Formats: sequence, structure tokens, C-alpha cells
Amino acid sequence: MAYDADDIRRVVAEVLRDPAVSALFGQADVTPPAAIAREAPSGTAEGIAAREGLGTFPDIDSAVSAASIAQRELVGLPLETRRAMVAAMRRAVLEANESLCEDAVAETGIGNVRDKKAKNELAATKTPGVEDLEPRAVTDEHGLTLTELAPYGVIGAITPVTNPIATITCNAIGMIAAGNAAVFNVHPNAKRISCRLVGILNEAIAGSGGPGNLLCAVGEPTIESAGALMKHRGIGLLVVTGGPGVVRAAMGSGKKAICAGPGNPPCVVDETADLVQAGRDIVAGASFDHNVVCICEKEVLAVASIADRLKAEMAKNGAFELSGGQIEAVTKLVIAEPGGPGREGAPNKAFVGKSPQAIGKAAGIEVPPEARLLLMEVGRDHPLVWTEQLMPVLPLVRMRDADEAIDFAVEVEHGFRHSAMMHSHDISRLSKMARAMNCSIFVKNGPCYAGLGKGGAGHTSFTIASPTGEGITRPRSFTRERRCTLVDYFRIV
Ligand code: NAD
Repeated sequence: MAYDADDIRRVVAEVLRDPAVSALFGQADVTPPAAIAREAPSGTAEGIAAREGLGTFPDIDSAVSAASIAQRELVGLPLETRRAMVAAMRRAVLEANESLCEDAVAETGIGNVRDKKAKNELAATKTPGVEDLEPRAVTDEHGLTLTELAPYGVIGAITPVTNPIATITCNAIGMIAAGNAAVFNVHPNAKRISCRLVGILNEAIAGSGGPGNLLCAVGEPTIESAGALMKHRGIGLLVVTGGPGVVRAAMGSGKKAICAGPGNPPCVVDETADLVQAGRDIVAGASFDHNVVCICEKEVLAVASIADRLKAEMAKNGAFELSGGQIEAVTKLVIAEPGGPGREGAPNKAFVGKSPQAIGKAAGIEVPPEARLLLMEVGRDHPLVWTEQLMPVLPLVRMRDADEAIDFAVEVEHGFRHSAMMHSHDISRLSKMARAMNCSIFVKNGPCYAGLGKGGAGHTSFTIASPTGEGITRPRSFTRERRCTLVDYFRIV
């Protein structure tokens, strides 16, 4: 989608006509977004930067002030307008999807355009909207009680480098559908693409009758600005998506926090599984966006009697098996801190989200261009089994039987209670593993992403809140329950 200077001028003029925005510029401590101050020649880098400016602020204070004005305006608008805004946000992401993905891969060096497009399409189409906020009414001889889902106000959102577009898209749709505004402190290594997306979403909102600056971001996000957001008195709720550090910080902030943390999803395959399907699904899931999604299969625990046949099926679908010295070379390269029992470990960030070919090349291994995944058979103690690798290098461990595999799956998941998969046609084992894992997502006989509504039933989210229990977040996750009671009247039967 191409924009010229007139498009930008029209949107900026609309935003400036907005009384909430003029009020904002009346405040001495608020710096107007850079884009509003300048003209944008069409198709140039400056033009793109100008569009990024819609909703981008120099610091947390000015972003929260602008968002809070926008949020007050939002709750005064009809729900019909809110629905139109959400529809426009969905369309805007779908229209810009290809170029957003290209920019994200160029900026972060993580993942691939094809799978990022699929993630964003999922986030744009399957994140629930305003319909998610169903009020409830209860009546009895004492009258009527109505329960409604109210916004928090301004939400402070912290987003990861691994899914910058999909997480911001589903957060933005869900938070606005629920009547909130949001201030994003995005990952510093994804700041350009994230601010560009915030600008695109704000344009879509403004074009459908919504207030400007409903979504705000700081242009130069840092850990310090994340800390300022967590402490800001204008923030009613924190929603953080990332690794263990940010989850710990949000949970210790003293504010209500929805925390979507790390995982290490095990995938168990037993001797009753359809191995053709399991081989196809595991490669599809574990190679998805080069394995950077938190739900991707991170280790395969295969019952010994079918392990060779499973590996053969995986090979037919693009798994390239490493052996001997190759396993050692890749492990040395991709693991920064080796995980182990009770120890999460950490990957080498330089290889997070890289292709199998790039990882192979760095380890001195020639990997065929059609390979989607590097597969390595290892022992139970191998660090890749215990570390959330976030790259297309998948360890497989042979297990005596399904019971041993389920017990081991619980251990390697480290109690994150995030995601797990099983391929089996034994209902009692499927049920046993579902209970034992106690995860936010458990996928039976499908690729991991079926649990996010891609090829599986249900809505999607790229903020899966396991530590705080909201699971696959949705608009109602971003609301407060409020009750209104009328005594003695309005039970009409
Ligand atoms: P990360 O933890 O390095 O960064 C995530 C965000 O938190 C970034 O914006 C970062 O700047 C911020 N941050 C990090 N440490 C912080 C601290 N101490 N205080 C304040 N802010 C801090 O993670 P990443 O590399 O961007 O993303 C990958 C991780 O996120 C993986 O562990 C993955 O499993 C997880 N993740 C989880 C979900 C989910 O829905 N559960 C979704 C995506 C990613």
C-alpha cells in the first residue's frame, strides 16, 4: 500500500483537529510526536519515518499523557465506532503484512517473511474483538444484578523481539476492543518495525472515527523506560510478553500484571501415533518462523520402538539429521548457558531465529537449501533438551515407553505450564499427559500452532499468560469486572 504526502498531511490534520490532541499540545510537559511537526515526501525514508511518528513519543510520561486523553475519548464513543476501529486495524495489518514482515526480518534478523505473514494474519483475523465483552445478568427475588467488563484505562505493554508485529497486533486489538489505550515499551531491537506498526494502527483508528494516540510507544525503548512504565501512576495494568527477566520485573512491580513468559514445549510421540502425520506436524511446528514462537515444539520425546520411523517421516518433511561431531559443533555454537534439571539455561542470541542453513554454515556443516529443521538425537541430559533454544535445532530423545516420556516431559518443561504436544491414539495417555503437564496449551495430534487457532479451533493470541493464569489472552483479559445491583425490581417473570 503506497502513501503520499497528501495522505500523511490528511491524517495528521485530522489528528490535530481532534480536541483531545489540541488539549495535549496545550500541556507544557508534552512534546508533540515528531511526525506531526513535519511534512513527509512520498515514498522516501523520511515519509516512512513520519508515518512511524503517529503515536511515537520521546518518553514514557508524554506517551502516558497522550494515551490517557485518548482513552477517555474512546469510552465516550459508541460501541459501533469501536467495532469499526477494530475492523480497520485488522484490515490495515493485512494490507501492510508483506512489507511489515520484510521490515521486521531486516531489522531483527529473526525468523522468516513467509511464517511471519501467517502469524500476523492469524493475529489480525482471530484475535477476538468487542463481541468478547459479554455482560451478564442475574435475577432473583431480590432484583437484578448486572456484571459488566470495564477497561483498566491505560495499559503498559512490553513486547518481544521474536513476534513484534503479531504481539502488538493482538495486544492492540484486544486492549482497544476492551476500551483501553496502550503504551508500548517494545524490544529495542525491534523499535523501528514496532513504531511503524503503531503508526499504521493509529491511522486505521483515526480513519474510522477513533481518537488519535490510542496506541503510543516510546521511540527509544530501554530497560529503564520499561521500568518507568511499570512504575507510572497513569498505568492501570501491565501486560508483558517476554522471557523470565521481564516477567520477574512485572510481577515485582506492585501493579496488577498479566505476564506471558517463556516455555520449553515438549512433544511426546508414542507407538500408537499416526507417524506420517506426526512427522509432518512436528517439522511444520518446530520450524515455524525458525522456532522463535514460544509455543513451538522444543524437544521430541519419542517412544523407542517408533523413534526410527518417526525420524524417517520427519526427514521426508525437511528435517536434516545431524550426527556425531556435527551435534557437538552445533551445540557448542547455539547454547550460551547450558540448561539442565531445574536449570533453564539460555541460547546464544546470535543464532535465535536464524535459518538451519545459517546455523549449519556457522558450524561448518553444509545444510541442503530445502531443509527446514536441524534434528539431533541426544541423551536425556543434553542441554538443548532443557534450554528454550528459539531456533530450528530440535533435539529428540528416545524413551522406554509413553509413561516415562510423560514424566520426563513434565521435568523438561521446568514448571512453566506453558505449552506441550502429544501424538498418540491412546485416549487415556492423551488425558494423562494433559493433566500432568497442566499447561496453558496442550495440542493433541497436531502442530503446536493448532493451539493458537491456526488449523485448530479457537481464538488466537501472541500473549499467552501462563505465570499469571490468563492463558491465551483476549479482550476480556484486559478488563475489570464491575457489578451494578438494582434491589427488588426488574425480575420480570
Ligand atoms: P526478552 O525477555 O529479552 O524481552 C522481552 C521484552 O522485555 C523486551 O521488550 C525487553 O526490552 C523487555 N525486558 C527484558 N528484560 C527486562 C527487565 N528486566 N525489565 C524490563 N523489561 C525487560 O525476550 P525476547 O527475546 O524479546 O522474546 C523471547 C522470549 O519471550 C522467549 O522466552 C519466549 O518464550 C517469550 N515469549 C513468550 C510469549 C508468550 O506468549 N508467553 C510470546 C512471545 C515470546
